[in-house]
Amino acid sequence: AKKAVLGPLVGAVDQGTSSTRFLVFNSKTAELLSHHQVEIKQEFPREGWVEQDPKEILHSVYECIEKTCEKLGQLNIDISNIKAIGVSNQRETTVVWDKLTGEPLYNAVVWLDLRTQSTVESLSKRIPGNNNFVKSKTGLPLSTYFSAVKLRWLLDNVRKVQKAVEEDRALFGTVDSWLIWSLTGGASGGVHCTDVTNASRTMLFNIHSLEWDKELCEFFEIPMKILPNVRSSSEIYGLMKAGALEGVPISGCLGDQSAALVGQMCFQDGQAKNTYGTGCFLLCNTGRKCVFSEHGLLTTVAYKLGRDKPVYYALEGSVAIAGAVIRWLRDNLGIIKTSEEIEKLAKEVGTSYGCYFVPAFSGLYAPYWEPSARGIICGLTQFTNKCHIAFAALEAVCFQTREILDAMNRDCGIPLSHLQVDGGMTNNKILMQLQADILYIPVVKPSMPETTALGAAMAAGAAEGVGVWSLEPEDLSAVTMERFEPQINAEESEIRYSTWKKAVMKSMGWVT
Ligand code: ADP
Repeated sequence: AKKAVLGPLVGAVDQGTSSTRFLVFNSKTAELLSHHQVEIKQEFPREGWVEQDPKEILHSVYECIEKTCEKLGQLNIDISNIKAIGVSNQRETTVVWDKLTGEPLYNAVVWLDLRTQSTVESLSKRIPGNNNFVKSKTGLPLSTYFSAVKLRWLLDNVRKVQKAVEEDRALFGTVDSWLIWSLTGGASGGVHCTDVTNASRTMLFNIHSLEWDKELCEFFEIPMKILPNVRSSSEIYGLMKAGALEGVPISGCLGDQSAALVGQMCFQDGQAKNTYGTGCFLLCNTGRKCVFSEHGLLTTVAYKLGRDKPVYYALEGSVAIAGAVIRWLRDNLGIIKTSEEIEKLAKEVGTSYGCYFVPAFSGLYAPYWEPSARGIICGLTQFTNKCHIAFAALEAVCFQTREILDAMNRDCGIPLSHLQVDGGMTNNKILMQLQADILYIPVVKPSMPETTALGAAMAAGAAEGVGVWSLEPEDLSAVTMERFEPQINAEESEIRYSTWKKAVMKSMGWVT
């Protein structure tokens, strides 16, 4: 049968913490034509440790690409219309591999991992000059969250990594680098690069000069020879070396939160989006200037869409645990079988009945940056049941967002009039309504929630030498919006929010 031609298509790898996806979009309308998704295993070898297998991540990418291409075939769509591939990825997660064999030298140390707490403590005692040394260069607080300390830990504790560095065989990368290197040929000619957004999450990258920072590398004692080349977020890095899309250029690369910002078209100063995945990340575009927060937010590179294009910055509120709390209720407590079931439980009661759940599993990120915090469920009575706890878990995601939105409004001066949202959890309608009620502003969600992948596809399609995506609003005609208006009064919302804050205080200081 003759295959229908739709115009140029662009694919995107979305390698998240909980799953990998490959999605194919029509570059003229942003219509999602086909996709495939595979869940990724998380290993918890010790309390506080979180690892993933880099090979499993890579295989999941190949599997998603192959399956998506098969599905396109069934839809009579010719995969030779796919002109470019973008990569978006979980940020900070750290991989070290052997460039001669292509084998990882250790599991990926996931961003949520807390093993570096003592590394952070000892480093913070040695910060040269004033405490602003790291923050003024990177926009980040010294925390277990970022790659530099994870890499420090690997260099200190893993013999295979030490040996490979000595023998000049080691390469470091965040997940984007690992994937692009592997997909463009690996040990036989793979391209070792990253983009400015991913680099800005390593704590080794100077966000003003847009280069690896020599002083930071000295401070963390990281050999610069193992670091990837830093490129813009939109340019041809290399070609796919295997599989159904062999020969297609990989020409977009953005950390997942930056990708979502692009996918939501937040290109203007003051435009913001909040993504609800494993964690929750609110990013506000601050234009061409670096804004430093007074309220616990990070300063980060938003995107640089082309080699000769300007860099844009963002203020970011990061919440470690959002969807992860739902996964925890599923995997650790077993009160639901699928993440979607949480909605049914929550709906049965429609209130947490005074129960508050602070999911500080990895300490608290923004705005507190409190590593001593641990999760608590409080306000329990004989009456409390699993439905109330389910509701409290959803409410916790909304309260945490409220805290970062408040911080953002204080730092930016102009309060947001509505919140643009996306991510896996936004399929949950109860969550979306609760969020509007707790923020007391409308929550606006695109009909197609895969904005992370869309952003990576847009960056890839817009790259020089590809040129199939113009980044104008008319190229997003397939995307419509759904709005959730606040339904409870502000007073009621304030009372709940202040009780939440009380619960947060109780979660702190558990670990000393
Ligand atoms: P990531 O990009 O971090 O991998 P996703 O955006 O894919 O995350 O979202 C997956 C997360 O959202 C999981 O933690 C899952 O538990 C949660 N999730 C998915 N669907 C729902 C739902 N209907 N209600 C609540 N949480 C959900």
